[in-house]
Amino acid sequence: MLFEELGLSANILRAVSEEGYKSPTPIQEKAIPTILEGKDVMGGAQTGTGKTAGFTLPMLQRLEVYANSSASPARHSLRALVLAPTRELAIQVFESIQNYSKYTGLRSALVYGGVNIDSQINIIRNGIELLVATPGRLLDHIQQKNLVLSKVEILILDEADRMLDMGFLPDIKKIVDYLPPKRQNLMFSATFSNEIKSLANQILNNPVLIEV
Ligand code: AMP
Repeated sequence: MLFEELGLSANILRAVSEEGYKSPTPIQEKAIPTILEGKDVMGGAQTGTGKTAGFTLPMLQRLEVYANSSASPARHSLRALVLAPTRELAIQVFESIQNYSKYTGLRSALVYGGVNIDSQINIIRNGIELLVATPGRLLDHIQQKNLVLSKVEILILDEADRMLDMGFLPDIKKIVDYLPPKRQNLMFSATFSNEIKSLANQILNNPVLIEV
């Protein structure tokens, strides 16, 4: 299969081609069309399967619709949140998003704990469509009212099993409570424990299960 067959826009395909990707990986073949349809997804995939592009490419495309229209009230308002368990993973996901979104006009930012919060506030306030965050620091920003969450359309939990292992469940629940109830939810996990299934039941709405 070719990337061109998945329904992605020219701006995104151009960035993918510059990455040197020739054809989609199995998770990308399944996840990209499903996410483009607006469905919730529970994805079972390890690192190395191409899962990051599998959720970021269609997410970018769903956000791209208004990004280049200066008339849109949603321009540069926060519309997608990606939660990752660690600073390293958050950086990796953010860098992928930067690469894949370079022709879309979308703005993104990255926040994680253990560093000064003030410089992060300035970047957020400049206006972003997309935020990649670790849960604890995101909650700090929410509680300090540095973010407007009322326009969030897409929530992504990457490596959800590791987030639970690290004790982030209470933070995740609090974050979800701040989000608009009508949104698309994507959750990825390498394992499917009962805890993961329970979190999926609480967050996802009629999800399509994708396993590779
Ligand atoms: P991930 O599983 O998301 O951590 O991705 C693993 C690696 O695969 C990353 O270095 C990606 O740049 C690369 N990658 C993702 N999708 C593709 C693709 N379709 N073809 C070739 N490499 C890819």
